[in-house]
Amino acid sequence: MDQIKLSKDIIENYNLSKKHLFKKNAGNSKYYYQLQYDSNLNNDLIEISKLYNTNIPFKIFGFHTNIYITEKGYDGLFIDIDPKNSKIIFNKEKEEFIVSANTLTSKLVNYTMNLGYDFASLTGIPGMVGSGVVGNSSWASRKDYGKYVKKLIIFDFKESKEIEVIPDETFFSTRNSFIKKENREKTRYFVKEIILKSEYIGKENVREKYLEQINKRQESLKIGFLEGCAGSIWANLDLREKIGMSFKEIIINNPEFNINFNGARYSNNGSRFFVTDNDTTDKDVAKLFDFTIKRLKELYNIEPIKEVLILDYDGEIDLYTFIKRYL
Ligand SMILES: Cc1cc2nc3c(=O)[nH]c(=O)nc-3n(C[C@H](O)[C@H](O)[C@H](O)COP(=O)(O)OP(=O)(O)OC[C@H]3O[C@@H](n4cnc5c(N)ncnc54)[C@H](O)[C@@H]3O)c2cc1C
Repeated sequence: MDQIKLSKDIIENYNLSKKHLFKKNAGNSKYYYQLQYDSNLNNDLIEISKLYNTNIPFKIFGFHTNIYITEKGYDGLFIDIDPKNSKIIFNKEKEEFIVSANTLTSKLVNYTMNLGYDFASLTGIPGMVGSGVVGNSSWASRKDYGKYVKKLIIFDFKESKEIEVIPDETFFSTRNSFIKKENREKTRYFVKEIILKSEYIGKENVREKYLEQINKRQESLKIGFLEGCAGSIWANLDLREKIGMSFKEIIINNPEFNINFNGARYSNNGSRFFVTDNDTTDKDVAKLFDFTIKRLKELYNIEPIKEVLILDYDGEIDLYTFIKRYL
C-alpha cells in the first residue's frame, strides 16, 4: 500500500476473527489499520481520502458489535477506530455535549446522567457513539440516537475535507441514517464528532430511568455477551410496527424457528439472539437466514429488515446476496 502514508503501520493479511465477538471463523482483511484520536487524526483522514478514487476499498468500524464478517474476509483496508482519547465536552451555555465519535455509549450515558441530562434511552447499547448515530441505535421503541443529534462533524473522503451537517427529518430512519446508506457501496463519510442535546431532568430522575432500563435489559445483555452475538439480527422496531411482535415473541409463538443448522440458530436464552458455534460455516448461516425469511413471508407476509452489516470480500453485501453466495 504505497499510495498513502499513515502515521502508524498498516498490517497486511490481518485475521478478522479477532474482531468478531461471536463468530470464530472470519477470513482475513488484505490490510488493517487502527485509527487513533490523536494529533495525527486529521492527517490520517486526508491520507485515507487518497484511496477514495483508487481501486482499494476501505471500511471503518467502531467496536464491531454489529457486524458479520464472512469466511472470505475483506479484500480491502479494514479500519478500526481506537476508543482511546475519547472526549465529551459540556457546553453549559447551550446545554449541548460535544462528543468524539469514538466515545463509548455507556460513557456518554453515565457522564450525562451525573449532570442530570436525560440520555437514559441509550442505556445498555454497546459500542461507540459514532456507530450508534450512524445506525440510529435505540432499545425497543424508546427514543433513538437520532433524536439527540443537533450537528455532526464529518470527514468527507471524496472532497477530502471536514464538513458540518445539521440533520433534517429525513436524515434518520429505523436503524438507519443518511451516512449508513451513503457508505454502503463506498465509504465516503467518517463521523468524527457529534453535538448532542437532551433535556435536563436532574440526576436522580435520569438515574431512575437508567435503572429501569438496565433492570429490564441486564439479564439479556449478560447472556448476549456470554454466548456471543451481534444483538438483534432482525430489526425488532420494524417487526413490532408490521405485526406487533418482536423476533423473540415470534420464536415463542412459532417453535419451528428453534431450528439449528450446525450451530447457526437463535439462542434459547435471553432475547433469543442469533448465535453460532466454532465450526458453523457461512453456508449454515445462509440456511438459517433463508429459512427465517421464507417462513416470515409465509406466516406474516413480511420481509424483515436486517440490522447487522454483512462484510464480504468485496465490501458490504445485502442479505439476499449473502444467501445467494453462500447457500
Ligand atoms: C448484546 C448486544 C446488545 C445490543 N443491543 C442493542 C440495542 O439495544 N440497540 C441497538 O440499536 N443495537 C444494539 N446492539 C447492536 C450494536 O451494539 C449497536 O448497533 C451499536 O451502535 C454498534 O456500535 P459499534 O461501535 O460496535 O459499531 P460497529 O459494529 O463497529 O459498526 C456499525 C456500523 O457503524 C459504522 N461506523 C462506525 N463508526 C463510524 C464512524 N465514526 N463513521 C462512520 N461510520 C461508522 C460502521 O461502518 C458500521 O456500518 C447490540 C449488540 C449486542 C452484541
